[in-house]
Amino acid sequence: MIDTAIYKERLQEDLDRITPQLQELGIHNPEVKEDWIALPQDGEIGVADENVAADRAEALEERIATLEALERSYNDIVRALSKIEAGTYGICEIGGETIEEERLEADASARTCMAHMDDELELSV
Ligand SMILES: [Zn+2]
Repeated sequence: MIDTAIYKERLQEDLDRITPQLQELGIHNPEVKEDWIALPQDGEIGVADENVAADRAEALEERIATLEALERSYNDIVRALSKIEAGTYGICEIGGETIEEERLEADASARTCMAHMDDELELSV
């Protein structure tokens, strides 16, 4: 039996760390709770100088990439926490096996066992 209390605490800590980072980069989509929208910074829109505009577009793209990675982690954590509540935590979403403790130690929000690790990215939100 997996001691979920340890993982719950760890996931909650991760969530508390990631949420302010997400809030800094974007806003939570009010219609789709899994989605965060990147915010352009002051002056990023409507710049006349082409080079400046290109630099800023690049900076925005980087922020979107960072935001997407954070968003994925955030959603994985929220999902893991709700699985703890539902009593389905630690079960591989692909094969239904028990996820190895070693794997959960490394990533408390893991959705699959080690054998199905490579397929985890294929899973939908
Ligand atoms: Zn599996």
